Amino acid sequence: MNVLILGSGGREHAMAWKIAQSNLLTKLFIAPGNAGTKEVGTNLEINQTDFEAIKKVVLENNIKLVIVGPEDPLVKGVHDFFLNDTELKNIPVIGPQKYAAQLEGSKEFAKEFMVRHNIPTAAYESFTTENLEAGHKFLETLTPPYVLKADGLAAGKGVLILNDLQEAKDELTEMLANKKFGAASSKVVIEEFLTGIELSCFVLTDGKSYVTLPSAKDYKRIGEGDKGLNTGGMGAVSPVPFLTDELMKKIENQVIKPTIDGFQKDNIRYVGFVFIGLILDKGEIKVIEYNCRMGDPETEVVIPRIESDFLELLIAAGNKELHSKTIEFKKESACTVMLVSGGYPEAYEKGKEILGLNNVENSIPFHAGTTTNSNGKVVTNGGRVIAITSYGDNFNEALKQSYKNIKKINFEGMNFRTDIGFDL
Ligand code: ATP
Repeated sequence: MNVLILGSGGREHAMAWKIAQSNLLTKLFIAPGNAGTKEVGTNLEINQTDFEAIKKVVLENNIKLVIVGPEDPLVKGVHDFFLNDTELKNIPVIGPQKYAAQLEGSKEFAKEFMVRHNIPTAAYESFTTENLEAGHKFLETLTPPYVLKADGLAAGKGVLILNDLQEAKDELTEMLANKKFGAASSKVVIEEFLTGIELSCFVLTDGKSYVTLPSAKDYKRIGEGDKGLNTGGMGAVSPVPFLTDELMKKIENQVIKPTIDGFQKDNIRYVGFVFIGLILDKGEIKVIEYNCRMGDPETEVVIPRIESDFLELLIAAGNKELHSKTIEFKKESACTVMLVSGGYPEAYEKGKEILGLNNVENSIPFHAGTTTNSNGKVVTNGGRVIAITSYGDNFNEALKQSYKNIKKINFEGMNFRTDIGFDL
């Protein structure tokens, strides 16, 4: 079978790396891909949200399965585009339709879904420009810290956590009246503050049945000790060491099953990944967020721990036959450490030659922001550049291996965190 993956990050390289190992694969295409995906498939130079261009390459290359990596094409309706096109409608797309992608694209939609299906989450109210005053009054009834969330996608920057009431009121005004995050903050969800430790769960579903993928924990901030500016993610480990079987059962019963049942009750035929961001406090679990795709860099530790044929699972999900499948994991732990461009997550330069990749031993360098320049050299092409994934008997062993290999890699301005897994 010929397969297309949409996207260009470490997540898509990890998926491509795994799918390339499947006996069910004939040809693998990645659009637009990066310098790493080129090693395991054919990159296609098209924009991942240019649906007509996607249609053209799908038909030209006899592609029979499309896997959508990032949220943007899903929220913009790539799956709906396929269903509404006579030539594409029988080609399965892994990733939900536009309506269900609102689970990620609208915080209010996600909260309403959770409340409707009794899925534990923080208490909340949502406000628009018309009821800004009511929003201010609501803040007065809360105790700090105050959690303000832009309803729409804001590149991971739309959540503000503030200690001061006046500052929270001012920010609410900024978001609603002054459109701090553009249309994304024309509605704001104000939420109860939750304490605890965060972790992520991932399921692959055909809307009715599901398989649960390995758990993971990521490290979001740029600085050591998880301090400083938010990033797309600086590293991750899998499995989450404190996630006991008992706790996993609780998550399954209180969150995963009600979510999948919720799709059926709401008549949503969800095909794809559900990323569930959770917070654990004194044994109690609450959902912070849903994403309608896999996380990055979590994918770079989750996928390498899957023993089963990943493409076989994806085909089953696309054909709505996931009930006939089980998933096997590797026993080893995995970790990944992200190498980023100097300056990231603020302004940074691109085009720096990446040296030493061929010297990496017993780790997998998943490419994120990389490309090949006109001289055939692999150069930086984004903020997050390479994720170095390793296995180990425990995550400390895995981390040791990643850090050993990182010493062999270099590019101008290269930065990374030396403390991934520090809190575990
Ligand atoms: P992402 O960066 O994962 O895309 P997002 O912008 O979709 O995030 P959320 O995941 O809802 O937004 O929130 C971002 C982060 O803010 C969470 O990972 C968590 O650390 C913190 N956070 C969100 N909601 C709460 C809450 N109610 N209480 C405490 N912390 C919270």
